[in-house]
Amino acid sequence: PVTTGDIRDWIQRSGQVLHENNAYLTQLDSAIGDADHGINMDRGFQAVNKKLAGMEEADISTLLKTTGTTLVSTVGGASGPLYGTAFLRAGVATAGKQTLESADLITLFEAALEGVKARGKAQTGEKTMLDALAPAIEAAKQAQAAQASLAQIVQAMVAGAEVGTKATIEMTATKGRASYLGERSVGHQDPGATSCWLLLQALADSIK
Ligand code: ADP
Ligand code: MG
Ligand code: MG
Repeated sequence: PVTTGDIRDWIQRSGQVLHENNAYLTQLDSAIGDADHGINMDRGFQAVNKKLAGMEEADISTLLKTTGTTLVSTVGGASGPLYGTAFLRAGVATAGKQTLESADLITLFEAALEGVKARGKAQTGEKTMLDALAPAIEAAKQAQAAQASLAQIVQAMVAGAEVGTKATIEMTATKGRASYLGERSVGHQDPGATSCWLLLQALADSIK
């Protein structure tokens, strides 16, 4: 199963991966937004990891909730409240769990998805982070139904998020800043979908 240490490792790796991809995510956001997504995510996860470093006894739920509240309070853009809500809901969904089995992990991500949908009033197909997260969860469910291992389920999520992220290139944005461009948003990969894919890659590296 997924342990508290795995979740901690995931959040730390996420900070590294987002730092390494700061310029890339910002470049994606410069095409259809205001060129700050990489900066926002990097700053947010740096604050998260600083916070978690002082919380050695925290369980899975507390780690996830703290990540959420820290993102909400340190990231100004749309992505702060949205990812913040995702991690908060994930923390609520894992309350009391010492470890996570495959089904718990899927429940965690479904809670995160519902949180993002509710907070952003968006659905899939609107060229947002949901277009990476939703197909990732679908892929996880299919893998689970096929008796895949936990590591295989997470790998399937990464593959689902990759397909979903690339599919955003052809989408017209109807939510967030990119929606101001209308049809001119077509031809560009969504920054938030891309960061979601990166977060899932970090998870796959933590759960092997
Ligand atoms: P801002 O647009 O405020 O500068 P960011 O650049 O950090 O914030 O984040 C932009 C990303 O947020 C987009 O690429 C998109 O994936 C996501 N996003 C924006 N609005 C929504 C929404 N309503 N629902 C879900 N995701 C959204
Ligand atoms: Mg932006
Ligand atoms: Mg901004």
